[in-house]
Amino acid sequence: MNVALEDGRALADRAAAELEEASAQEIIRWAAETFGDRLCMTSSMADALMVDLVSRVKPGIDVIFLDTGYHFAETIGTRDAVAQVYPINLVNVEPLRTVEEQDRDLGPRLHGRNPNICCHLRKVEPLQRALEPYDAWVSGLRRDEAVTRRGVGVVQWDARKKMVKVNPIARWTQQDVDAYMEEHGVIVNPLRYDGYPSIGCAPCTRPVAPGEDPRSGRWAGMGKTECGIHL
Ligand code: SF4
Repeated sequence: MNVALEDGRALADRAAAELEEASAQEIIRWAAETFGDRLCMTSSMADALMVDLVSRVKPGIDVIFLDTGYHFAETIGTRDAVAQVYPINLVNVEPLRTVEEQDRDLGPRLHGRNPNICCHLRKVEPLQRALEPYDAWVSGLRRDEAVTRRGVGVVQWDARKKMVKVNPIARWTQQDVDAYMEEHGVIVNPLRYDGYPSIGCAPCTRPVAPGEDPRSGRWAGMGKTECGIHL
């Protein structure tokens, strides 16, 4: 945090209280005015909802994509289309080791043997590194996505990263998301139409049946529900 934003926790707590009933656009505007170019966002490229929302308020924003080396081809295609269509600066972030180097050093299929270490090496560390130049980041977390996300605030202090985390659509429902995407013709990862409501790395994501928990296809049967970047 820079000096003016030293007391990030107090800033986040005050904003969370003031903006709890604000629209997503108002929350993004607050973040853009407060942090300027030290605000960035992340995208999993499951769709461009957040990119569409944020880039309308802050064109040119840095959008961090964690290129784990294990993504579906459809996700990489979505990333490339999003970078072309929206007024953003795509920041493609790679892990310190390629998949081949990880296989050589730690054995093949680490994701099947120890997904927590694999996620740390390919998501958590790269994100931590990528976020270093910023004071705040925007994410698309929603309270209704999972039990573990019910406590998500519209603005939060991320004590581990020592940054302000802005979640403009924390209060949105799936219906709100669907309505916005339809109205604005948002780019969507084609896997979404193939039974993947939540999209992560290919080895750790399976399609889910209609009515199933949307995130139940992530790390299915591995006793894991989050990669760690939002903990
Ligand atoms: Fe590795 Fe799976 Fe985590 Fe991707 S989601 S980083 S493949 S454990």
